[in-house]
Amino acid sequence: MLRYHTIPVTPFQQNCSLVWCDQTQEAALIDPGGEVERLKAEVAQRGLRLVALWLTHAHIDHAGGTGTLARELGLPIVGPHPGDQFWIDGLPQQSRMFGFPPAEAFTPTRWLDDGDTVQLGQSQLTVRHCPGHTPGHVVFHSAEAKRCFVGDVLFAGSIGRTDFPGGDHATLIASITDRLWPMGDDTVFIPGHGPESSFGHERRSNPFVGGT
Ligand SMILES: [Zn+2]
Ligand SMILES: [Zn+2]
Repeated sequence: MLRYHTIPVTPFQQNCSLVWCDQTQEAALIDPGGEVERLKAEVAQRGLRLVALWLTHAHIDHAGGTGTLARELGLPIVGPHPGDQFWIDGLPQQSRMFGFPPAEAFTPTRWLDDGDTVQLGQSQLTVRHCPGHTPGHVVFHSAEAKRCFVGDVLFAGSIGRTDFPGGDHATLIASITDRLWPMGDDTVFIPGHGPESSFGHERRSNPFVGGT
């Protein structure tokens, strides 16, 4: 079974999720945006073996620690979708703009597309391409655990910003209603910021996508 522990990192309190297979202790970090020493300590403390870095999208608070971790630990970088190439190229500029430590450049080992799968020990997650917040945003869905790691697509009571370059409001709404809702009302999602919620709860009460 897939297990996870969420660690808010960076001044933006971005929810980096440490996910692992409890059969093999193989682990991945979803969106290692920064505080890499703290993330490495969490992995070691739990006795896990980190095998990959997974990215939902390439904003600095989600991707800023990726290059450093990949280089130090020799890890593959999986995701996001190629639509975020320009955000990856812009990471050094993003880190200056937001006062982050310099972000090391990187090239994903494997780009992701809608319907791809990623494997962690005996657990398999499905990738859905959910553009709108960024063009190359993806989410990671574990049907078995009824969990979805959604980055900045959807939040408890809100949705992702669409006023960045490449953002589009109608596209984001379509990603949520066409690709997240079918995962089921009882699916709990881990957003990029703030508390968890379920798709059913958001369908009923989220002012931006409620009633859809
Ligand atoms: Zn973002
Ligand atoms: Zn974010």
